[in-house]
Amino acid sequence: MAYQGGYGQPPPGGYQQPAGYAPPPGAFAPQNANVSPDVQRWFDVVDRDRSGKISATELKAALINGKGENFSDNACKLMISMFDTDASGTIDVQEFEKLFNYINQWLQVFKTYDRDQSGHIEEQELSQAFAQMGFRFSPEFITFLIRKSDLQNHKQISVDQFIVLCVQIQRFTEAFRVRDTQQNGTITIGFEDFLSVAIGCSI
Ligand code: CA
Ligand code: CA
Repeated sequence: MAYQGGYGQPPPGGYQQPAGYAPPPGAFAPQNANVSPDVQRWFDVVDRDRSGKISATELKAALINGKGENFSDNACKLMISMFDTDASGTIDVQEFEKLFNYINQWLQVFKTYDRDQSGHIEEQELSQAFAQMGFRFSPEFITFLIRKSDLQNHKQISVDQFIVLCVQIQRFTEAFRVRDTQQNGTITIGFEDFLSVAIGCSI
């Protein structure tokens, strides 16, 4: 399960099997009849210690961004927490099916916004991406977002950084929206409420 830059021939669903891994047909008996064989196969690849659960560490080891780096700890913890419906801290195969689809959707979205197919989202692309999502952000704010995501070069955003950024903006937007009762784009917020939003929405 890897995201590679360049998009020459993306593997089906954006995932790539680790070298040397060839699941024998029928190796995974349909213990979970409602999970697709494809998802079950991926689950077994990612679940390295065969515990039947996927941890943030196992997810991190399976996901590579367009810079050839593993996804950040933040991104993996975020995605685990979003789909860990029984709050066990790990992902079972049913939860994994949703996570699997979620990641694939993000890879597709990222690919759409990465117009020059560099494997990263640059300033212009980020601006267009948010415009298509319905946000009107100033160029200064876009620059700020890139600087906060790409701490080293301040130039480009990888797919895992993009996921974290979008989820964070969605959460803050939702918190703002429920307080913007007159829908005029302005809120008055108490100090403690402000801290609740800031701490609650941070990743
Ligand atoms: Ca495991
Ligand atoms: Ca790009």
